[in-house]
Amino acid sequence: MGRVSLGIPVNLNESCTINGAALDALSQWRPRPGEAVTVVDAGGWVFRARVISFGADLAELFVFEDMHAFCDAGADITLLQAFPDKERMELIIQKTTELGVDRIIPFKSLKAASLEERDERQKKSHRWQSIALKAAKQCRRATIPQVFDYTGFEEAIGFASGAAIKIALWERAGIMSFKKFITDKREKLRQGVCVLSGPEGGFEDAEMEAAKAAGFIPVSLGPRILRAETAAIIAVGIIQYEIS
Ligand code: SAM
Repeated sequence: MGRVSLGIPVNLNESCTINGAALDALSQWRPRPGEAVTVVDAGGWVFRARVISFGADLAELFVFEDMHAFCDAGADITLLQAFPDKERMELIIQKTTELGVDRIIPFKSLKAASLEERDERQKKSHRWQSIALKAAKQCRRATIPQVFDYTGFEEAIGFASGAAIKIALWERAGIMSFKKFITDKREKLRQGVCVLSGPEGGFEDAEMEAAKAAGFIPVSLGPRILRAETAAIIAVGIIQYEIS
C-alpha cells in the first residue's frame, strides 16, 4: 500500500514530476512540501526524494539519495494479532511496521477483552492506520502497511488463505521451535508468510484447533512466556532476519 512507483528511471540530484497512479500513491503519505519520501524507480530501486510541490494533478520531487536497495527484496508478512490489553496494539503496529510487516489484522480472541470494552475507556483504534503511516515515514519504508478493521477470529484466519507459510505462535511445551521450523524456508517465506499471535490470556484449545485446520503450524519461541507484544514483534523480526 502506498508505494510511490515513479515508473521512470531516476537520476540522483535531479527533479522529476509525477502524476496519475504515482501521485495517488504519494497522496497516501500525506506529504507536505519540504518533506522527504521514499520512492521506487522503473527498475524497482529505492530512492529518497524531497517534495518540492504537491498539487491535485501534479507533484514535483527532487531525488537526493540512492538507498541502494531493491524494493521487492523482502517477504510479504501478514500479522493476525489477537487484540491485546492497554496500549499494546499501538506498540505492535509501530514496531512491526519498522520491522517490515505488510498488513495487520487485529481480531477478537476468546481469552481477550474486546475492542469495544477498551474503547469504552478510551477510543484509540481510529488512530491505528496513522500510527502505521508515521512509523513507515520514520523508518523510510517504501510502503505503508495496511491496518485492517478489528474483526472476528474466523475472519482473521481467512486472511491467511494465500500465504505460503502460516505460523501460529503457541507457548505450549513440546511443540516445534520457531528456529527449527523456519530454517531452510527462506524462499517460501518470500512468497508470503502469515503469523497468528495470541492475547495475554493465550489461545483457547478450540482456537488453536481451528488454526491448525486452516493450515497453521504451531511453533514456540522458547521456554519463556513472552508478553503478547514481545511475541508478535520478535516473530516479525525473526522472519525479516531470515529473509535478509
Ligand atoms: N496466558 C498464557 C500462559 O500463561 O501460558 C500466555 C500467553 S502469552 C502472554 C501471549 C501470546 O504470546 C501467546 O498467546 C502466544 O501467541 C505468544 N507467546 C508468548 N510466549 C510464547 C512462546 N514462548 N512461544 C510462542 N508463542 C508465545
